Amino acid sequence: MEELTLNQTITVIGHKNPDTDSICSAIGYAALKNANSSNTQYIAKRAGKVSPETAFVLDRFGVNAPELLENGAGETFILVDHNEASQAVDGLELDSILEIIDHHKIGGIKTTEPIYFRNQPVGCTATIVYQMYQESGVEVEKSIAGLLCSAILSDTLAFRSPTCTDFDKEAATSLAKVAGISDVETYAREMFKAGSDLLTKDAKEIFYLDFKKFESKKATFGVGQVTSMDQEELAQLKEKLVPYMQETFKEHEVDMLFFLLTDILEESSELIYIGDHAKEVVAQAFTSSREDITYLKGVVSRKKQIIPQLMAVLDK
Ligand code: MN
Ligand code: MN
Repeated sequence: MEELTLNQTITVIGHKNPDTDSICSAIGYAALKNANSSNTQYIAKRAGKVSPETAFVLDRFGVNAPELLENGAGETFILVDHNEASQAVDGLELDSILEIIDHHKIGGIKTTEPIYFRNQPVGCTATIVYQMYQESGVEVEKSIAGLLCSAILSDTLAFRSPTCTDFDKEAATSLAKVAGISDVETYAREMFKAGSDLLTKDAKEIFYLDFKKFESKKATFGVGQVTSMDQEELAQLKEKLVPYMQETFKEHEVDMLFFLLTDILEESSELIYIGDHAKEVVAQAFTSSREDITYLKGVVSRKKQIIPQLMAVLDK
């Protein structure tokens, strides 16, 4: 038998500009892997700043933020909550990926060896991580349950997003019990409120809170999003973001930039955009467009209601 290498370390990491799912699923999955392994150490890391929402969640359940990883060269990885190189930590080598656990469209990472790749069309990576705990018969620790439950509430906008499935609801409900969250809706509101204390931030910080780049056949584009329960706050954020996007457009090195200002309670979004042909793309993708800003009723999910529509136009 081959001898086991002791003390091998593997990094579990989410995407750049990490959201609550990317941080909490990394922590939760690293804990599960550690529970199932004796000779390998799994360490959750993060590929960017902890958002105010995530900081609230970590604080609430008494968990430290994962270590920041600026460059992934030389490390071995498990990716959670993303599978596109353009969203991964800088310096990541594709052949250093051992596993991917995700709930997004498959975005073109190529490997030379087979890897464990688990992608499910659910509302949150944390839901898949929860299922993996169930499958391996490992009990979810109280604090981890709190993190995973928060991630599900965050990604599904407390079950309001069209990406939300029964699996997400089941997982969040079970996890809430373990975590001691008595009223999920009240907790979610507290969390969103902590996360949307955005007016103190400058335009750049707001822009990068949740920003992702995508590649299509015809163009490279970036899509950012902020969510809030406060219309007035969104209106003020828009006033900061429009000039910021105009001034910095060239620095982003994309053909088009889109930004969604999502009102969680109204279940609608305003879409701001800039770039060559962005206006035509928006008009084609969403069939209606006003001057430079589009109001999208019923649209809250970038993943399900924005990216596929943009891709459909830009991949033609
Ligand atoms: Mn995410
Ligand atoms: Mn996610």
